[in-house]
Amino acid sequence: MPKTDSRIRKNTRQYHGQTDAESLVNWLNVTEDRVGRARVMGIVEAFLMALYQESAPEPDNSTLGDGTHRRLTTARRKLVEAATRKLDRLLAYYKVIPSIMILSAQKGRVQYFVSWRPAPGSKVALHGRTVPRPGPGREWKKHYEIPGGQMGEIGALFNVLELIKTGLIYKVSGCRCGIFYFKKFAHQRFCSQKCKLAEFRTNDVVREKRNEYARKLYHLHKTGKVK
Ligand SMILES: [Zn+2]
Repeated sequence: MPKTDSRIRKNTRQYHGQTDAESLVNWLNVTEDRVGRARVMGIVEAFLMALYQESAPEPDNSTLGDGTHRRLTTARRKLVEAATRKLDRLLAYYKVIPSIMILSAQKGRVQYFVSWRPAPGSKVALHGRTVPRPGPGREWKKHYEIPGGQMGEIGALFNVLELIKTGLIYKVSGCRCGIFYFKKFAHQRFCSQKCKLAEFRTNDVVREKRNEYARKLYHLHKTGKVK
């Protein structure tokens, strides 16, 4: 029986892609770049729509007399193609250049970062907002310290791409209160217990109004005022 290899460190991550999910959710919640955020979420929505359209169960292959298959141009096929084209168009906005940034050595240690930067002259370079950085004369914000808190739109996009690759993107969701969160279980619809209860209360109010209307209508019928 082999002994446990103590050199292998225990994996403390709870799930694959956790770092990307954490950074993305943080960024969605703290970024001041609302336009960039809408663009990034637009890609997530377009991807999920393309996936949904493609997975609809209606067959669009027909078998010809000689046994070969042919793809039919069904209404659904057109929807799939439209969804895919939209996704391509949204992604084409990002013209980027790979970047390896090596920071000057401090105490003999060199640090480097691999990322992507906007291609000069591209739309993303012209319209993309720079991330405010903490510095002299600039107010320190708590979110500068959290993972993803200082990320730009391109960084967020690459988190999205990683989460699409690992199949976890559908777990990043927006709550009724405007906060983004990572779903811990498949049917989670709210960021917190507080929001869940708030939603149920709203439903109660709606239900109560409906019941009241039904009672009134019943009464009117009974008294012969409406038929
Ligand atoms: Zn909420």
